Amino acid sequence: MIYLDYSATTPVNIKVLKYFEDVSLRYIGNANSIHSLGKNSFKAINSCSKKISSLLKLKDQEIIYTSGATESNNLAIKGIAFKYANQSKQIITTYYEHSSIIASINYMRTLGFKVQIVNSNNKGIVDLEHLKKLINDDTVLVSIGSVNSEIGIRQPINEINKIVKQHKNCIFHCDMTQSIGKERIDLSQIDLISFSAHKFYGIKGVGALIKKNNLQLDPQIHGGKSTTIYRSGTPATPLILSMGKALELMYVNFDKKYNHVAMINKYLRGELEKIKEIKINSTIECLPHILNISIPSFSSKKMVKELAKNDIYISNHTACSSDESKSLAIYALTNDLKLARTSIRISLSYLTTKKEINMLVEQIKRMLKNV
Ligand code: PMP
Repeated sequence: MIYLDYSATTPVNIKVLKYFEDVSLRYIGNANSIHSLGKNSFKAINSCSKKISSLLKLKDQEIIYTSGATESNNLAIKGIAFKYANQSKQIITTYYEHSSIIASINYMRTLGFKVQIVNSNNKGIVDLEHLKKLINDDTVLVSIGSVNSEIGIRQPINEINKIVKQHKNCIFHCDMTQSIGKERIDLSQIDLISFSAHKFYGIKGVGALIKKNNLQLDPQIHGGKSTTIYRSGTPATPLILSMGKALELMYVNFDKKYNHVAMINKYLRGELEKIKEIKINSTIECLPHILNISIPSFSSKKMVKELAKNDIYISNHTACSSDESKSLAIYALTNDLKLARTSIRISLSYLTTKKEINMLVEQIKRMLKNV
């Protein structure tokens, strides 16, 4: 099998899975219970939060554990919008956000919020001057992801944050699902950060929303008090602990892993550039883990399915939007319907080899020959 769909999800690291089994048997108590078994689970979650905070160099930030980034994004957007609905009613975002951001913001629009889309340049990067013009005293939230999941476009998060911070009532939410565990990024000043364990070889079904301590949110899941007041329910202790483990493992040889992916990306890009039918959509500034291309002469769905018959796995668009007939992100970037309808995403890992890339390229060439 040649797996090249790591941005959709990663295969779980066997060490994480073993750890999950171990802590599932070790921490049987409900972390909300007051007896010693409950307290043991609660303490284990607390030390996991300390570990994550230290790995991510968080400052004055609280970790709210969720079921994944979709929930984190919903909590961030609705939680802020509902909390401050009486004060301000404008939300700013981009065309490059994940469907869970777009859908949550669209929902707030139906409740009377005004939504503004900030312009981007021809590389998909946010136009900071336009952002300055759009933000005003009525802006409650700016939600812009650090890395777009389909193309790998990176946004200048710290510059964006500085602009947002000039408005005292405005909050910055950053979906870092495609960044955490992959690239070094300063998170210390950001109000709200979403991420998910299954993007860094953790188990599916757990993620987090990191929140500045002084910030308040309207909870979106109501119930009894839990490890935080923002998300009720029995804490998923083994999943939470296994996410901490997955992140810790990502930080072993972190730079080496990143450099390997950058090398593989360069090699793949070089090989694809030799094929005249292919247009490469990801720029060299994009996160190297993602390479998006369009093949206008070939249906992207057919390409994904044909490659899968040969045990090679890539994506058309993202996994969350693979049924859409066109990619909204590629359309926003290129303004070209044909490219948006025929785009595919190849996503890479520190596990990816040149041999795998050669086999992918060979299969693509074979398919194009038979058109
Ligand atoms: N945001 C981004 C940028 C993503 O890539 C994804 C996963 N496709 C999500 C949010 C949603 O994450 P989850 O699958 O954990 O809900």
